[in-house]
Amino acid sequence: MTANLLDFDLEGLAVFCERLGEKRFRATQLFRWIHQKGASQFDEMSDLAKSLREKLKTTAHVQAPGIITQHISSDGTIKWLFDVGAGDAVEAVFIPEDDRGTLCISSQAGCAVGCRFCSTGHQGFSRNLTAGEIIAQLWFAEHFLRKHLNTPERVISNVVMMGMGEPLQNYAALVQALRVMLDDHAYGLSRRRVTVSTSGVVPMMDRLGADCPVALAVSLHAPNDALRDNLVPLNRKYPIAELLDACKRYLAFAPRDFITFEYCMLDGVNDTPQHAAELVKLVRQEPGNWCKFNLIPFNPFPASGLTRSPQATVLAFAKVLSDAGIVTTIRKTRGDDIDAACGQLAGDVKDRTGVQKRITIQRTVMLKPVVEIAPSGQGDVVNG
Ligand code: SF4
Repeated sequence: MTANLLDFDLEGLAVFCERLGEKRFRATQLFRWIHQKGASQFDEMSDLAKSLREKLKTTAHVQAPGIITQHISSDGTIKWLFDVGAGDAVEAVFIPEDDRGTLCISSQAGCAVGCRFCSTGHQGFSRNLTAGEIIAQLWFAEHFLRKHLNTPERVISNVVMMGMGEPLQNYAALVQALRVMLDDHAYGLSRRRVTVSTSGVVPMMDRLGADCPVALAVSLHAPNDALRDNLVPLNRKYPIAELLDACKRYLAFAPRDFITFEYCMLDGVNDTPQHAAELVKLVRQEPGNWCKFNLIPFNPFPASGLTRSPQATVLAFAKVLSDAGIVTTIRKTRGDDIDAACGQLAGDVKDRTGVQKRITIQRTVMLKPVVEIAPSGQGDVVNG
């Protein structure tokens, strides 16, 4: 079996080149061809010696997981379902905006955390993605979009690790993939433009701060332990006080001087003015504007038994936070017509048998828009 070069960061590729009897600097050339130019055929790599290209043909390949489906929303959001083998599939979503292009990436097939409002959580955990499978989502999307939009310029300016899975429960692969995203010989993304979203794996938050401090978003969703224990079961292990302490420690390393708290608005569950006031009290224990809130309209799915808070409730909740001087945004949802919005990722993969069937049937429609429906004007992508 040959090596998939998407599995390597630059150092790993240098070691691979040395094993082939090549100088380490060849790895930089190879890395640029793969990640900056999207090359997957060694014959395209014209500044590599022919002898090296021949060696690579017998020892290596460059390949992302196959695409099962591609859905393009009327608002320009694109969702891909990747086949990662054995009936598992993961999703990535591209969200175009005027001043940026954001890719939401998955880190695991399924998720073990089991948040009540998340369809991935209801699916259960299957396995961790490899670093190569994580970076392949960016590699595929970036180079597909350049061709699709007919531009040589970079299309994806921001990456959010908010797709399927809890990134900090797949730490080693996550950090390797982050390093490729940040590497100037690959995507050269700034730390401020790469965000890891966590449900609160406290020890790994500290490690991320030390190893690869990118922007951090924390899925809070409740102002007290009793409620959060119910919505985010990981809270029983790392309760709110410990989580907030970890957030404050992370600030010393963070590329931005704040932590973003994600808060999914659930009708009658966590969305009253009293809950908002409790949140204010919680974060005001620490002085300064060290956090922001992002209120997320819930995207209902039948198994959750939960419903979306009415808009007036969300606005009233936001007002309590804003009046207390806390920067608060309400997430616009995007891609509703293709189920690309928050908590909807994995809706397509709950039935693993069904996935297998679709893999067979839908390969024939690979890379064609499958759904094109009227604008919804809503939706961001993000599970956590
Ligand atoms: S919200 Fe995030 S951490 Fe929670 S179950 Fe969904 S994917 Fe896992």
